[in-house]
Amino acid sequence: MKNTANIIFFGAPGAGKGTQAKKVSYELKIPHLDTGNLIREAISGGTELGKKAKEYVEGGNLVPDDLVIGLIREKLLELKGNNFKGFILDGFPRTIPQAEALGNMMKELNLQITKVLNVQAPESILIDRLSARRLCTNKSCGAIYNLFTKKPQREGKCDHCGADLYQRKDDTAEAARQRLKEYHSKTAPIETYYRKQTVLADIDGTKDPQEVYNKILEIIPLN
Ligand SMILES: [Zn+2]
Repeated sequence: MKNTANIIFFGAPGAGKGTQAKKVSYELKIPHLDTGNLIREAISGGTELGKKAKEYVEGGNLVPDDLVIGLIREKLLELKGNNFKGFILDGFPRTIPQAEALGNMMKELNLQITKVLNVQAPESILIDRLSARRLCTNKSCGAIYNLFTKKPQREGKCDHCGADLYQRKDDTAEAARQRLKEYHSKTAPIETYYRKQTVLADIDGTKDPQEVYNKILEIIPLN
């Protein structure tokens, strides 16, 4: 049987795991299971789970773990029937109960998580990256910049329309610190959980994105 790459990207907000997950999915053609998309698809498809999810979403509530796991399970069953190459998760699991539920479901489907890629960066870098976004004040322009990855040519001014740029309240250093605090209390314990299962691989997320990507290719199993 050929290798499948059943991968979880794990790391603090700002570590760059989402960017890498998208790149790996695109270049290696391994499906990216985005839980937000799975929920939207199920709702618009009107499936049994979709109908339940709809009630939560319309009530303004979070879709519960068992329902999200159910959606991932359905997707995996669909993928398994058809030249299965593996899957990528990022942003899930976020809590230990979610990680445990995912593990049980994988066992039931006779699948294993092959790698959990732990993308790491020190707090100071995470805060810089999370507070680097700038938006154009001109509503009809709506351009978005990032002081690291997509810098405006003139400081504080929009390249497209010349209007002033501003920083959203959720993008400030203070908001970033709050997000990281939440991450450390709820999500970080998963690192120990997967390290015990010896599927965790540490990745230095401070390097430039191409270097990080090359490192990931060395680690994940390929066909
Ligand atoms: Zn603009």
